[in-house]
Amino acid sequence: MSASYEVAVIGRGLIGASAARHLAEAGCKVVVIGPGEPADRRTSQGPFCSHPDEGRITRIAGRTPIWSQLAARSIARYADIAERSGIEFHKSCGLVSSSPKISEWLKNSELAGGKSRSVDSDWVLSSTGISLTNGHPALYEGAPAGYINPRSLVKAQTKLVVQAQGVVITESASSITRRPDGYEIKGNCGSLFADRILVATGAFGSELLKRPLDLRRMPRTTVTAELSINNDLPSLICVDPPDKRLEEIYWVPPVHYPDGRIALKIGGALRDAKPVNSEALTAWFQGEGDSIEAEALKNCVIGLLPGVEVTSWAQKPCVVTNTASGHPYIGWVEDGLAVAVGGCGSAAKSSDELGRLASKLFQSERWSDSLPESAFNPLFN
Ligand SMILES: Cc1cc2nc3c(=O)[nH]c(=O)nc-3n(C[C@H](O)[C@H](O)[C@H](O)COP(=O)(O)OP(=O)(O)OC[C@H]3O[C@@H](n4cnc5c(N)ncnc54)[C@H](O)[C@@H]3O)c2cc1C
Repeated sequence: MSASYEVAVIGRGLIGASAARHLAEAGCKVVVIGPGEPADRRTSQGPFCSHPDEGRITRIAGRTPIWSQLAARSIARYADIAERSGIEFHKSCGLVSSSPKISEWLKNSELAGGKSRSVDSDWVLSSTGISLTNGHPALYEGAPAGYINPRSLVKAQTKLVVQAQGVVITESASSITRRPDGYEIKGNCGSLFADRILVATGAFGSELLKRPLDLRRMPRTTVTAELSINNDLPSLICVDPPDKRLEEIYWVPPVHYPDGRIALKIGGALRDAKPVNSEALTAWFQGEGDSIEAEALKNCVIGLLPGVEVTSWAQKPCVVTNTASGHPYIGWVEDGLAVAVGGCGSAAKSSDELGRLASKLFQSERWSDSLPESAFNPLFN
């Protein structure tokens, strides 16, 4: 006899692990199904994830009022998650953002209770050593802005799922079949039954859904740089950075990486970037990323940190999953089957709230949040 659950969450990344925790802590009989990150991405057949890294920016001054509120709600729970799991994952090192849209980001921050303030490039240079030459306005956001460790956050959420009597299966699922009284899930995870399902599989897992969601999987290359300086840098978002091939860049200040280096991580978006289809994703993750993107990112480190030497570089591929709406899809796609996917490159910091909103779908008949349900409606191809 296969195991049976009220809710099966498929995908144990940032959003799935959070949803499973909220469901388990609400007393639901939940299983979360999802492997860890591949041991060797060059030979793995996947599924891959977008969170295996040591740093993701956290901030309240987001691109939309909704993103700002999602972040503020999540950040308010970081300390509780860390304390109850015994796993630290948040560092408040502050953030500098520079963009033509700074006045909107400041407004979004204020609406969500953030404390960002307008600053100029002279202040940024003298306070942080970062040279902004794009001519755009800037903001500074102090604590709790900074970064989180996404690997540690997934570990913390998973630990809390188990503490709340949820079941964790660290294998993948490959099919979902509708049965008269619920769903059957099969794959490396074995065969199990659930009344209802949440699919939170990030860039992967499209084979699990009957109708393809409108998702744009954007290949991204990230570069890590060991720096000659030890001074404390803030996190950074910079639109129109020094290398014109990039629309924008972000960085997370130097942190320890598993390869033993203490390195700054920089990533961004090339102006002419094209989405990849799901079939090409595995090959992308097995490769080394894009050499042009890596070169442009390196130029940005050098341009933004004048006088700083880089003692080593490394690079790797990743994928950002964009939605057509600009916000994650959280909602029902058929009776009993919901999704929580499409982090749009911004969901790590807000994943606890995204998971909570997804968990609420299973706990009440109606959407009962002050954030509009329509902002999260899944859209299909
Ligand atoms: C380079 C890069 C930089 C980023 N920087 C930031 C940042 O600074 N700040 C920020 O807030 N966000 C950032 N993000 C975005 C953030 O990391 C993502 O939005 C977030 O990881 C999305 O969470 P998720 O749970 O949807 O997906 P993931 O974290 O990718 O998790 C999905 C999980 O589903 C699993 N899965 C897939 N298919 C199956 C299956 N068939 N069966 C079982 N499990 C399956 C995968 O193994 C994976 O663990 C960045 C993303 C990238 C790629």
